[in-house]
Amino acid sequence: MVIWCSQKTCKQLCEGKKKMSNKALILVDVQNDFCPGGLLAVPNGDQVVGPLNRMIDAAIKNGWEIYASRDWHPAQTKHFEKWPAHCVQNTPGAEFHPNLRLPWRYPKLRVISKGLGDADDYSAFDGGMRPKAKTLYIGGLATDYCVLWTVKKAVELGYEAILLIDACRAVNINPDDGDNAVAEMRALHAKIATTEEALNELHA
Ligand SMILES: [Zn+2]
Repeated sequence: MVIWCSQKTCKQLCEGKKKMSNKALILVDVQNDFCPGGLLAVPNGDQVVGPLNRMIDAAIKNGWEIYASRDWHPAQTKHFEKWPAHCVQNTPGAEFHPNLRLPWRYPKLRVISKGLGDADDYSAFDGGMRPKAKTLYIGGLATDYCVLWTVKKAVELGYEAILLIDACRAVNINPDDGDNAVAEMRALHAKIATTEEALNELHA
């Protein structure tokens, strides 16, 4: 009986711990070249920084994993036959936006580099990201490419994906691309939430 009790206590503790860290924050490509003034600027791309900073604070407080993906292209790649050159390794354009408060000393922060060869690598998973958490909060740039493909892959791999709708912006080569991408994610049963809603839910 005593053994059963201690097992139960242990289980409760473990479950509690799991609950605290069963979420992860995915920051997709918040890089200078995707922000105004960059080589492949997403309109208002820098506006994702504020809401994502709030999510970073919440992630640290709750002990979540944080993944910051980045395009990290060689100077020459087939990828640049489709797109203007951008986010070339070790250039200022490839750096994270200076106002994004990445917690460099936080042990659960991982930088995911992708697009190292000729492949497009739109999804952060293409850079080898494999969160242990089951629920992923995803925001960044751009809604209609790297965010979309990251959400799609997350759902395919069985994660619960939550798109932070105010923390992403679209390239919109066609004016509806961003809206269509959100509709596609919704159809895949990704959840769509504002950072406000996500944070409120955490406090509830
Ligand atoms: Zn790229």
